[in-house]
Amino acid sequence: GLFTLEDDPSTMSQRPPVVTIMGHVDHGKTSLLDAIRKSKVVTGEAGGITQHIGAYQVDQDGQKITFIDTPGHAAFSQMRARGAKATDIVILVVAADDGVMPQTKEAIAHAKAAEAPIIIAINKIDKPGADPNRVRTELLSQDLVTESMGGDIIDVEVSAKTGDNLDKLLEMILLQAEVMELQANPERTAEGVVIEAQLDRGRGPVATVLVQKGTLRPGDILVAGAEWGRVRAMLDENGQPVKEAGPAKPVEVLGFQSTPEAGDLVAVVENEARAREITDYRQRQIREKASVVATGTRGSLEQMMNRLQETGRKEFPLVLKADVQGSAEAIAHALNDLGNEEVGARILLSGVGGITESDITLASASKAPIIGFNVRANKQAREAAARDGIEIRYYNVIYDLVDDVKAAMSGLLSPERRETFLGNAEVREVFNISKVGKVAGCLVTEGVVERGANVRLIRDDVVIHEGELGTLKRFKDEVKSVESGQECGMNFVKYQDMRPGDVIECFRVEQIARTL
Ligand code: GDP
Repeated sequence: GLFTLEDDPSTMSQRPPVVTIMGHVDHGKTSLLDAIRKSKVVTGEAGGITQHIGAYQVDQDGQKITFIDTPGHAAFSQMRARGAKATDIVILVVAADDGVMPQTKEAIAHAKAAEAPIIIAINKIDKPGADPNRVRTELLSQDLVTESMGGDIIDVEVSAKTGDNLDKLLEMILLQAEVMELQANPERTAEGVVIEAQLDRGRGPVATVLVQKGTLRPGDILVAGAEWGRVRAMLDENGQPVKEAGPAKPVEVLGFQSTPEAGDLVAVVENEARAREITDYRQRQIREKASVVATGTRGSLEQMMNRLQETGRKEFPLVLKADVQGSAEAIAHALNDLGNEEVGARILLSGVGGITESDITLASASKAPIIGFNVRANKQAREAAARDGIEIRYYNVIYDLVDDVKAAMSGLLSPERRETFLGNAEVREVFNISKVGKVAGCLVTEGVVERGANVRLIRDDVVIHEGELGTLKRFKDEVKSVESGQECGMNFVKYQDMRPGDVIECFRVEQIARTL
């Protein structure tokens, strides 16, 4: 397959930890990243690093640590939502003169959801009002018990301004990494994740890739999400060319055909044809998903959706009912603020009054949950919701509501689908029949193939097409189903590029309502 889950233990060797710094605004995340970088990055003779890169590596007593500079908590969870586990350890920065604040709590929630161990950096200890013990006490209420409070969470008092204890912080990271026994196989073909990417005027698409397994080299052909490219050059955090990037090494990669997205998983493939096959399929998937969502909406909403879908933004639809206009507006405002270019809440309806059956009908079209703020659903609405599998949530505190939607947005980016496997068939021969087009002569190797089923075309273990079965024939007759061991002829809706050896997986799909 494209992504291998396990490597043979004998091929594994130790790799550097990958660290993300999170915390409340103004508590010193950027200052800390900069201070560590200035004190540690082995610069060339010039020394002045001005260019921004989404990740860098430092050297602490001969051991490396990789820092990722994610521009916010949402980006962090967005990466996770795409299946990327980029971070091993989270450094939670808390300013000693300010203590635990709302975004501190948010960062803790993100770190815990990612199951990443937390190290506390109590920052700004140089300031006159600094009170590190107050920070430790406040962290208790977040279930983070530091060592001096009898727990096992490591904390370090630092100052990004004076540079105090930065070494100690790095040592603690290495200590934590040692416990985690972080390993990777440097010999295999490279895999990793896009940390950030942009279109550079002079250089074309530029992506900061964190290599997680294997070794990436110039000339490699890679796939990232729905984009591909051939590595033309790799640059380190100082803009210096690199010939090899092994596990936990971040590099700027030049040579993508188009700009991938942060959080896209990266894999090296054997050749350009393979890269095209994979990304063509993914591009089609993106286009088709967009149109499916758009047809479920109406009127001006539909126009809005189309516009948003063009930008590739992921939407979390919901229906909002509140007691008074004022609270509906306040909530809508707060929910809109949660969004960014990549993901956001989409309020299908914001209204005043109790939840009715017509609200449920609206919600079911988009599999959206309904939020009631100081209002309740009537009996018909409750019954309809139960029948359609629509979740209704009641709130009386706006903050709680917004928190839940935020959590749902970061974790649930697409409606859940339940798939039922029907069977597999193997393409034996492909016939070109006039007026009909290409027909695959197949042998059903497992289960059963049914008329109207969803199909997936699998070539060399990778899905290259997903769509619908067109006709299903045995000899000259159209049939409802074909069992394992029997031969049949199949064609596919809007797809012709099958080849002998391809595996056709047949399945049925059911959409399930999102839950908050
Ligand atoms: P961020 O929003 O978390 O990235 O915070 P910044 O790194 O931008 O820092 C916010 C402000 O706090 C800036 O004015 C920094 O100069 C200041 N600051 C950051 N770290 C320290 C520190 O250790 N001591 C003092 N005195 N000020 C700091």
